[in-house]
Amino acid sequence: MSNVHTDSINQLMEQFRKLPGIGPRNAERLAYHILKQPTDKALALADAIRAVKEKIRHCARCFNLCEAELCEICQDPRRDHSIICVVEQPKDLICLEETGLCNFVYHVLLGRIAPLDGITPDDLTIDQLLQRIQAGNISEVILATNPNMDGDGTALYLNSLLDDTGVKVTRLARGLPSGGTIEYANKSILTDAITGRKPI
Ligand SMILES: [Zn+2]
Repeated sequence: MSNVHTDSINQLMEQFRKLPGIGPRNAERLAYHILKQPTDKALALADAIRAVKEKIRHCARCFNLCEAELCEICQDPRRDHSIICVVEQPKDLICLEETGLCNFVYHVLLGRIAPLDGITPDDLTIDQLLQRIQAGNISEVILATNPNMDGDGTALYLNSLLDDTGVKVTRLARGLPSGGTIEYANKSILTDAITGRKPI
């Protein structure tokens, strides 16, 4: 970075450059945008960052993000608490919730088993998931890890752990995307679509 800026502006630009998708040009633009803002507006950004880091924590039951001991979903009596949908990250939970179709509760693993990245089952919230299931009253576990190598491996591992619990284990269906065409689907999507076919 050139030294035409003051130290403080350089520091701010450096912080922006650490954000995903922000290059040097954008970092410079953002830093000068902040500089032009009235003090209270600029500091609102700093306050929001501080608040998110100080107030947000993981739900004590499902590890979703929340500001209380339990997240809103775990506290919701209208949900079916006997069905646990297992996802890798809080953002996966949000995507599923946006469908408006989910009336179950969740368990967020906070990652996926990825031996090549050194992430083992112990790094995830698998023990806590097992404790929830062993506590009883669980009828189904939906494995909603990502349909890729690590996500599939994690689902297989969980499935083997849950084998003796007697709880029904399901995996999200996958296959042809709506609005897509068979002509442009790749082989693995078609394989999933054929093996996951269901009565109409
Ligand atoms: Zn929760």
